[in-house]
Amino acid sequence: MNNNGMNEPLGIVNHILKKSFVDGPGNRAVIFLQGCNFHCLYCHNPYTINHCTACGLCVETCPQHALTLGKDKIFWNEDICVECDECIRVCPESASPRTRTYTPAELWQEVARIGPFITGISVSGGEPSLQVPFLARFFQLVKENSDLTTLIETNGFAGQQAYTDMLPWLDMAMVDLKCSDPDKHLELTGQPLDTVLESIRFFAAQGKLQQVQQVIAPAYTDQAADMQRTAGLLAGIDPSIHLRLLRFRPHGASGPAAQWQSPTDERMDALVETARSNGLTSVERSL
Ligand code: SF4
Ligand code: SF4
Repeated sequence: MNNNGMNEPLGIVNHILKKSFVDGPGNRAVIFLQGCNFHCLYCHNPYTINHCTACGLCVETCPQHALTLGKDKIFWNEDICVECDECIRVCPESASPRTRTYTPAELWQEVARIGPFITGISVSGGEPSLQVPFLARFFQLVKENSDLTTLIETNGFAGQQAYTDMLPWLDMAMVDLKCSDPDKHLELTGQPLDTVLESIRFFAAQGKLQQVQQVIAPAYTDQAADMQRTAGLLAGIDPSIHLRLLRFRPHGASGPAAQWQSPTDERMDALVETARSNGLTSVERSL
């Protein structure tokens, strides 16, 4: 039984983007969940990694007095918040006080309002596979009440078993392959690579793998040998897997990654060619 006295699973949402053209096909609403099991060195949304521990540190720093410390949680007054992000800058836990908790029905009620203006719903992170019971029920409601398509953007770490419960109501998955070298993957994300590949195989076999994406970052994925290995692994699963290469940008990254260089256009183009010449038929890159 959850906090509302019902048996519905609860989801913790960081924020909802009402319109996006880069998180799957068409025009999509994107739901960003709170909580991730990777700790990527170049994470651009570190405030989505952990859950708030109600330490209270951010309350004093809010210039709008929009935060209040309760017994074991923070109350956020959305009406007076000016989204200055001071609270997430001071948070020592890589968390946010501005999350909202939903039942699947409550979330569907909110997204349904923009349903006529979108073609689908993408769920990103944080990491969607950490909230499967909630998402399975939410996607079921989406499918029972609309023609919207459903998609998750996942790091793949959970492996195939974790996704099975949501599969009947899931149309597509985008899987991040952070790095195809097992040692570098562990160094970059804090987690091993093997179940990520298992998830890619699983979604490909189900016909639900919308694309694999990889951030091209210095020292991890930007060399020809890195791309030869990545393309070889994916082509061995299915040469028609769509691979999208995303250029690393230091803006928004923290720690040492804030000093890393973006790969040049020439480097990105060369990696696209390397992927194609190593067996993949569908490769593109971001601008
Ligand atoms: S973003 Fe955070 S610190 Fe800024 S006004 Fe909103 S709650 Fe306060
Ligand atoms: S968001 Fe961070 S700083 Fe604010 S109360 Fe929670 S853990 Fe503490």
